[in-house]
Amino acid sequence: MAKKPRIIIIGAGPAGLGAAWRLTELGISDFTVYEKQGYAGGLATSFTDDAGFTWDIGGHVLHSHYPYFDRMFESVMTSEYFTHQRESWVWIYDRFVPYPFQNNIHRLPPKALRECLQGLHEISQKKPKKLRTFADWITASFGSGIAKHFLLPYNRKVWAYPPDKMNYQWVGDRVATVDVSRIERNIQTQRDDVSWGPNAVFQFPKKGGTGAIWERVAGRFRRRIVFHREVISLNLKKKTIVLSDGSTDSYDLLFTTMPLDVLAKKQTDIPLPAASRLHHSSVTIVGIGIAGNTPEALSTKCWMYFPENKAPFFRATVFSNYSRYNAPKGAWSLMTEVASSRYVPLPHGDIAKEVLAGARSVKLIPKGASIEDLWTFRSEYGYPTPTLLRDKYLSGVLPVLEQFGVYSRGRFGAWKYEVSNQDHTFMQGVEWVNHILNKEEEITLHNPGKVNGGKR
Ligand SMILES: Cc1cc2nc3c(=O)[nH]c(=O)nc-3n(C[C@H](O)[C@H](O)[C@H](O)COP(=O)(O)OP(=O)(O)OC[C@H]3O[C@@H](n4cnc5c(N)ncnc54)[C@H](O)[C@@H]3O)c2cc1C
Repeated sequence: MAKKPRIIIIGAGPAGLGAAWRLTELGISDFTVYEKQGYAGGLATSFTDDAGFTWDIGGHVLHSHYPYFDRMFESVMTSEYFTHQRESWVWIYDRFVPYPFQNNIHRLPPKALRECLQGLHEISQKKPKKLRTFADWITASFGSGIAKHFLLPYNRKVWAYPPDKMNYQWVGDRVATVDVSRIERNIQTQRDDVSWGPNAVFQFPKKGGTGAIWERVAGRFRRRIVFHREVISLNLKKKTIVLSDGSTDSYDLLFTTMPLDVLAKKQTDIPLPAASRLHHSSVTIVGIGIAGNTPEALSTKCWMYFPENKAPFFRATVFSNYSRYNAPKGAWSLMTEVASSRYVPLPHGDIAKEVLAGARSVKLIPKGASIEDLWTFRSEYGYPTPTLLRDKYLSGVLPVLEQFGVYSRGRFGAWKYEVSNQDHTFMQGVEWVNHILNKEEEITLHNPGKVNGGKR
């Protein structure tokens, strides 16, 4: 490799910005970021619409696993953020059950409560069996009752993919586990148990939504970013790219964050059939702006899960609770997320109307409330599905690309859901720079369990 390699970064989402941030920190400015959109932030962008409401692409909650990420956040946001107590709920059987669901099953109707409790006793008495799928893991960890009433229907909805065709190794620290005697105590005392452990609070920018973080990060090296410039094709052997304005550029090292299956199709030098076997789901966000004050029942809630089919969305966030600036004065806002995929298409008809009807049927919107705004945004790439053979497919693509100096990272570049949040993807960029310059291990990409096991 030449002493000063020429670096190209594709995408100004958190991963691309992470690489650019670290290069800049090291005093390296000979790199270019190509971004097809006119803004930085990728899926962590926010939009303020004509009605004055600000929306994220789905509820973005920061939970950092890295002191390095925390320092970056403090450095760009200074004190311009709020810190919130997490408060999430499950809407089921026409009532709210606090999260973690398993600790609060005393809120369920008697028959469902009995089935959930019986399932919990069964798993505490049975010898653990060998697990193969995410569905197996759910039933073995939470019992058949909680699986039937909440976790299987919810996960089918959020992934738009069958849990018995997904692996379970990605789960890591994402879901609180089960303590049967504590649950029984909660049933006896009818006490809500909403303990979140170390992840009890999260930060959110005062103004501009989650995207404000990434706008500020990009501001540190804006001259290096070329917006409205899509990479149309790549020649891996010649190490060149063709851009949407017809120009070309060349590199020694390419850091790309576009979806891996798309990247594989933009080149013709090497066959990469495994890339097309990766599965993803899409996400449609419908934001609802509502006149008046936030209803009492929602006034402290952050987000809510919807496992049932009464509403098309799997999650709704009271987005105006994250910042009063997310809604104009005299209004509040709900942001809903609907998943779809080639297995589970979006419902027919106008999705915004379907969501609105669903929000009314699950009593999120008070009768007679005036709707001020309906904002819809669809992202074809929403969630990288952890399918059973995902890692096999990835190992047939990522190392092959690296032989050509192409490093595919980020939420859909590396396709690992377990390390695809903002902190993870930003750090994938940072760690890649440390790897190419200092041969350090890219721990987030290669050792997700270690990263998610605690703050490093
Ligand atoms: C519904 C939803 C909810 C989420 N919730 C959370 C959460 O609660 N907490 C959290 O931390 N994270 C959350 N995330 C994840 C967060 O958005 C991602 O971690 C982050 O955006 C991934 O960054 P990335 O750079 O890897 O990819 P992206 O954000 O996808 O960025 C890739 C960039 O590459 C650009 N690009 C693509 N192709 C080309 C091309 N050919 N040429 C030029 N540019 C190109 C794109 O325009 C984009 O800007 C959520 C994501 C979604 C979708």
